[in-house]
Amino acid sequence: MAMNAIGLEHEVRELLTRLGVQESRYTEGELVVRTPITGQVIAHVAKTSGPAAQLAIDAARQAFLVWRNIPAPRRGELVRALGEELRAEVEALGRLVTIETGKLLTEGCGEVQEMIDICGFAAGLSRQLTGLTIASERAHHRMMETWHPLGVVGVISAFNFPVAVWSWNAALALVCGNAVVWKPSEKAPLTALATQALFERAAAKVGGVPAGLCALLVGDAQLGELLVDSPQVSLVSATGSTTMGRAVGPRLAKRFARSILELGGNNAAIVCPSADLDLTLRGIAFSAMGTAGQRCTSLRRLIVHESIYDNMVTRLKRVYLSVGVGDPRESGTLVGPLIDARSFAAMQSALEEARAVGATVTGGERVGVDGAAEAFYVRPALVEIAEQAAVVKRETFAPILFVLKYREIEEAIALQNDVPQGLSSSIFTLNMREAERFVSASGSDCGIANVNIGTSGAEIGGAFGGEKETGGGRESGSDAWKQYMRRATNTINYGTDLPLAQGVSFDIAE
Ligand code: NAD
Repeated sequence: MAMNAIGLEHEVRELLTRLGVQESRYTEGELVVRTPITGQVIAHVAKTSGPAAQLAIDAARQAFLVWRNIPAPRRGELVRALGEELRAEVEALGRLVTIETGKLLTEGCGEVQEMIDICGFAAGLSRQLTGLTIASERAHHRMMETWHPLGVVGVISAFNFPVAVWSWNAALALVCGNAVVWKPSEKAPLTALATQALFERAAAKVGGVPAGLCALLVGDAQLGELLVDSPQVSLVSATGSTTMGRAVGPRLAKRFARSILELGGNNAAIVCPSADLDLTLRGIAFSAMGTAGQRCTSLRRLIVHESIYDNMVTRLKRVYLSVGVGDPRESGTLVGPLIDARSFAAMQSALEEARAVGATVTGGERVGVDGAAEAFYVRPALVEIAEQAAVVKRETFAPILFVLKYREIEEAIALQNDVPQGLSSSIFTLNMREAERFVSASGSDCGIANVNIGTSGAEIGGAFGGEKETGGGRESGSDAWKQYMRRATNTINYGTDLPLAQGVSFDIAE
């Protein structure tokens, strides 16, 4: 066991050195970093003090004043260069993501790929920050919309996507002419340090980037609060639990700051009688068990038509009982560890609550892994439950899939929508009417509604986010960039008269 931990600590050092992080940044500090793979300590990182955080915000504001006047396509060059640095280090940063969060290597590298993808998107966007020209009701007048940089954008991120969430926000914010101050999860500061180092590499190569344009604050919720309350920060994009959003949202509203809230999900899939069951099974398995159920879009509720229920549940049980649980770096593993003891306790307590209301639980127990006595590996849990009880309506951030039965499609859609969260949803059907109904105005009420694919694994091209307690925010693709800019409506009079709108007359005598 000790060998394993020493091996990991050594590997972390090698990766951080390669990625350009100074040794003192991860060896001297009060923030203790553990890997969920073994539960062992792998680094000590210094927290950013309150005064240092304030200085970083001030510097970001000064950098913004310069950056906003640099043409957007040139700003795009910086983001393109960041994408190139990331591309060169996919394996190293991806491996570090795996060590810090416990996701599979393919998912760790996938997270970095997502960062590269959004950099490409944002670099292209830097030449497409277009506004409308609008017909004016007045002769010899023209109306238009112009989009301007906003200011300092604060990013608060969760442990489970420790770096991709920053890039979704930062890549767009930077091409839009803003400065960025990032407070990553206190559970994942190493990948943040590495990402910051890669950003600095890119900035040095491109040149002309004002100092302090992208800053990193290492610490816990208190530091996040400082960002939230700072009048210098124009927008805070906060990703994490609904509990965090409930604290952060009103504080931002109080000072009329903008917010993008990306909070908890409680995602469902409906399986209809016509579904391609082989494809459905694969879609369910990845969404429900992938990342050990620790994605905001993880599948947590399965709503199956009564005619195929027994078949589906029998097949799922076989998969749940045989799926490889273990070290996420090993090729046979599909389910890695939970992030920590708290997460394990929350999972066990949710399963107890389900049993207490008569549910049947398959799996869910702790799994021993050699050399990882302090880690928390679990067999994913499949829970057959008659009603959408309170435990089903909550997000438990662990691999628990509740299975419910339905008769009519209306009933299935009503069940899908009858939770406080509204992030992701899916329907598996070959019936065009059911599919279209699901994505229509009276279908799924979520920010993401898929047909014949699972609830997780979104691409960067679409706007990402959800409704209700998920917070209403949208980031990443489509026109999410508009939130990082302020819109000005300009009316230009190129005539010799001064007609007033709505035919109002106001003649003065001189
Ligand atoms: P968390 O809420 O514990 O922490 C998230 C971040 O918020 C951390 O950086 C934390 O320090 C900070 N924070 C917490 N309280 C704060 C406060 N009062 N003021 C300022 N900052 C504060 O979440 P977590 O355990 O790291 O992540 C898991 C949660 O995140 C799940 O609920 C998951 O669904 C959600 N999540 C949502 C999305 C999305 O896009 N909707 C993406 C990833 C994760």
